[in-house]
Amino acid sequence: MARYKDEQCRICRREGQKLFLKGTRCYTDKCSISRRNYAPGQNGQKKKKLSEYGTQLREKQKTKAFYGVSEKQFRKYFEMASSTKGITGEVLLQILESRLDNIVYRLGYGSSRAQSRMLVTHGTFEVNGQKVDIPSYLVKAGDVISVREIRKDNGFIKLNVEENKARPVPEWLEKDDKNLSGKVIRLPSREDVDLPVEEHLIVELYSK
Ligand code: SF4
Repeated sequence: MARYKDEQCRICRREGQKLFLKGTRCYTDKCSISRRNYAPGQNGQKKKKLSEYGTQLREKQKTKAFYGVSEKQFRKYFEMASSTKGITGEVLLQILESRLDNIVYRLGYGSSRAQSRMLVTHGTFEVNGQKVDIPSYLVKAGDVISVREIRKDNGFIKLNVEENKARPVPEWLEKDDKNLSGKVIRLPSREDVDLPVEEHLIVELYSK
């Protein structure tokens, strides 16, 4: 399948929001959203009025793209959230935030969620001292995520630690760059999640 050079940026432009899919570039003025904040394509600059279904669908697609999960995984998380006590949309975001690839990104050891996923798959991290190479692994409060001893010289990790020093780490995580590790102090609440999404619209979409 043909892939556009700026495929990830096109996703952001379609959603009209920065989804941070490209790593360091997303934090610079080279970001396409800063330069061309309108949908891609010939009619991208025309404002389209979305139907109720269209609005719900866009919220779901945006959230899926932000966390880089497939439709199947996303549906699975929704089922998990529906059967958990609490507000379904908020629980859904909490589950997505708890993925190991997201934690690695939030700690700044991956430049993007996609790169974090690749690093996890290559066996770069351990959770509570045990190697975990599953990006969808869900962490719990109290878990400690560390770069494995044999991977501490990994070039990506070194570069990311340096480049992401200024990137804020969420309050629910505690980072220890000296030991290349981080701790989950608590699971995030809705206020901790910086994705501008109306998650109740996703719940409405899946509840049809
Ligand atoms: Fe591209 Fe990142 Fe900007 Fe999105 S946030 S448009 S992926 S540079």
